[in-house]
Amino acid sequence: MAEVRVERLHRSFGEFTAVADISFTIADGEFVFFLGPSGCGKTTTLRMIAGLLMPSDGRIELGGRNVTYLKPRYRNVGMVFQSNVLYHHLSVYENLAYPLKVRGLSSSATRAKVEEVAAMLQISDTLRRGTDSLSGGQAQRVAIGRMLVRDADVFLMDEPISHLDAKLRAHMRAELRHLQKQLGRTTVFVSHDQLEAMSMADRIAVMNNGAVQQFAPPQEVFDRPANAFVAGFVGEPQMNILPVQLADGRAQAEGFSADLDTHWLARNRISPGAHDLGIRPEHLELSAHPLPGGFTTTLEVVEPMGPENLLTFTLGGRDFKLRRPTGESDRFREGDRVHLRAPADHIYLFDHATGRTLA
Ligand code: ATP
Repeated sequence: MAEVRVERLHRSFGEFTAVADISFTIADGEFVFFLGPSGCGKTTTLRMIAGLLMPSDGRIELGGRNVTYLKPRYRNVGMVFQSNVLYHHLSVYENLAYPLKVRGLSSSATRAKVEEVAAMLQISDTLRRGTDSLSGGQAQRVAIGRMLVRDADVFLMDEPISHLDAKLRAHMRAELRHLQKQLGRTTVFVSHDQLEAMSMADRIAVMNNGAVQQFAPPQEVFDRPANAFVAGFVGEPQMNILPVQLADGRAQAEGFSADLDTHWLARNRISPGAHDLGIRPEHLELSAHPLPGGFTTTLEVVEPMGPENLLTFTLGGRDFKLRRPTGESDRFREGDRVHLRAPADHIYLFDHATGRTLA
C-alpha cells in the first residue's frame, strides 16, 4: 500500500507562506494532479512529499509510515522534473541502468528491467545512443524511464512534459495515463495546464495561494467548482464571471440580464442582493433576434476556431466570451448587434465576498 497522507502541512520562507496548512489523502494507485497558477505552492508541496524540502510544520505519511523529516532516499519515491539532467557521458542504456547499479542489482536483472522499461516507453532503439542525439521527447522519456526502473512506491512528477511541443505533449499525456494505469502506482503530477489535468487525473487538487481549493475528480471540478477561483481556472476559455444584483428571480448588471429558476434559488437558499454570476462560454445562447430573458450586446471580436467560433464582447469593463458552432455563428461579424441569453440551468452563483459557490 502506498497511500500518501498529508496533514496540516505548512511551509513558509521567512514571512512568506508558500503552503498553508494543507491536508489530503491520496489513495494507493491513484493518479492525482496538483493544478494551479504559477506560485500557488504546487512544487513546494511536491518537494516536501519527495523529501527535498523540509516542512515548517505538519506531517507526511507514505504507506502508513511517517516520513515527514526523512531524507529522499529513505522514502522510496521516484521523481521526474521539467528539466531533467541526463548523464551526457553515458548512453541511454547506462542512464536507465544507473539507478539500479547504485542499488547493487545484478547486471542480468538490470538488463531485464531496463529493456522492459525501454519497451514500455518505446525507446528500445535508442538504448545504445548517447543522450545528446535524442530529441526533446526522447530525452524526457529517458528521464521518465529512470524513474520507472526504480520500482518506487510513489511517483512524483513536476511538469515533466510541459516544454515539449503541443503534438508530442498530447501524445505523452495519453501514454503517461496509460502507463500509470498499467503500473497502478500512486502518482502525483504537478501542472499548471488544466487540459493536462482534466485528461489524465483521477482526482485534481486545485491550488491557489498555498491552499487546496478543491480536491475532486476532473468532471466534478468542472461541473461543480467549489468556488469562483476553481470555476475560473478550469475551462477553456474560462468561465465568464460578472458581479450582479439579484432581485425577483432576475440577475442584472449594466448591459446584462438573466432570468433564474426561482425554485432553484429557494432550494439553495440564495437571498437577493449582490452576487457573482458565472456562465461558461459554451453555454451562452446567441441569436439575431431578441431572446426572452436575454440581453443585447455588440460583438467586438470574432475568432474562427475550426468547428466553432469564439466571440468576444465587453460587459462591465471585462471581456465576455462565447463559443458557438460555426454553422450557427458564421454570419455574425465584428460590430454586429447580437442577442444573447444565459440559460438558467447553466448559471452558477458565487458569494461576492468569499467566492464560495452558492449553487
Ligand atoms: P510554478 O508553477 O511557477 O512552478 P508553483 O505553484 O509550483 O509555481 P512554488 O514553486 O511551490 O509554486 O512556489 C510557491 C511560492 O513560494 C512562490 O511564491 C515562490 O516564489 C515561493 N518560494 C518557493 N521556494 C522558495 C524559496 N526557496 N525561497 C523563497 N520563496 C520561495
